[in-house]
Amino acid sequence: MKAIALFSGGLDSMLAIKVIQEQGIDVIAMHFNIGFGGTSDRSEHLKKVAQEVGVNLVVEDVRKRYIDEVLFSPKYGYGSAFNPCIDCHGNMFKWAGEKMKEYGASFVISGEVLNERPMSQRKEAMQQVEKLSGLEGLVLRPLSARFMAVTIPEEKGWVDRSQLLDIEGRSRKRQYELIEKYGIEYFESPGGGCLLTDKFLATKMKDFIEYNAFGVQDIDVLKYGRHFRISPTAKLVVGRHQEDNARLEAIVNNNFETVHMPEGIIGPVSLLSKSATPEDRALAGRIILTYGKTAPDQNYTLSIGDSALQLQPFASKEDVRSMMLL
Ligand code: SF4
Repeated sequence: MKAIALFSGGLDSMLAIKVIQEQGIDVIAMHFNIGFGGTSDRSEHLKKVAQEVGVNLVVEDVRKRYIDEVLFSPKYGYGSAFNPCIDCHGNMFKWAGEKMKEYGASFVISGEVLNERPMSQRKEAMQQVEKLSGLEGLVLRPLSARFMAVTIPEEKGWVDRSQLLDIEGRSRKRQYELIEKYGIEYFESPGGGCLLTDKFLATKMKDFIEYNAFGVQDIDVLKYGRHFRISPTAKLVVGRHQEDNARLEAIVNNNFETVHMPEGIIGPVSLLSKSATPEDRALAGRIILTYGKTAPDQNYTLSIGDSALQLQPFASKEDVRSMMLL
C-alpha cells in the first residue's frame, strides 16, 4: 500500500508521514513548487527533511500551472494577503491525485491540522479543499483524522483509524511531543514559508498586475528589492542590500533591464521595465543614484539600456518615498 503526501517541508507534513508510515504504508513525499515558497532556494532543506523522515522526495514544478489556474482566479478567494489557500490546497491535492497512478499510490495525505490556520484549515474549508481536488474520500489528514469523516482508506481497512490522531488548533504542543516520539532532529520551526501570505508582497503583486501580465519569470522580481511605480509604463526595483543585489543581478527577465551604478560608485543593482520612456529612465536613474554613495549636488553618468544619461540624485530618500510601494 502506498500513499502520496503533500510535502511542504514543514513540521506537520513530516509528522503526517510518520503517522502513516507507522502503519506499514509506503509514502512518497511530493512537493509542489508554486514559486512563492520563500526568498531562498529550499531544495536542500526539502532533501534534508525528507531524509529525516525516510521518504523519497519528488518535486513538481507547478509555477506556470499555479499562475494560470489558481493564483488569479481562486474560487474561494484570498486570505489576508494574496494567498488563495483553499484553492491552493485543493489544486495540490488534485495534482497529487493525477500522479497516483504513476506512483502506484491509493490515496493522498497531508499534514493539515484542523483550526491551525484561519483560512484553509477550518472544517468547512477542508471540505471545500477536498471537493476542489476531485479526490473525495481519498484525502486523509492523519494529524486531525479523528475529527474528520471516515475516508475510503479507513473504510477499506488500509489504514487503522484508531491509530490516527486528534490534533486541533494553533498550539504545537502535540507536535512537539511527536517530534520526541519519532526522534526527529532536523525540522523547520513553524510559521516560515509562503510569501503569498505577506501583505507587502500582495501590494507589489497588485501593482504588477494592474499594469502588466504576470508570468513565471516575474515571480523573482516580486521577491527582492524596493519597488517603485514610476509611471504606468515603468516599474523600478532597487536592491536593498548585498543579497538583494546578487538576486536581482541573477534575474533573467525579458521585460526588465538591469541597471548598475556608474563605475567606481557603490550602490544598488536595479531592474527597470524595458517599456520605460526616456522620462521614466531619467527619473529611475535619479532614484537609483539616490540609493548609492553619491553626493546630491553632483552629476553622474548612468547607463540604462543603450543610453548614457547625465543625472543628479535627489537631495534625500524622502523625496522618492511617495513612489515606493509600501
Ligand atoms: S500559505 Fe501559500 S502555499 Fe500554503 S496554502 Fe496558502 S497560498 Fe498555498
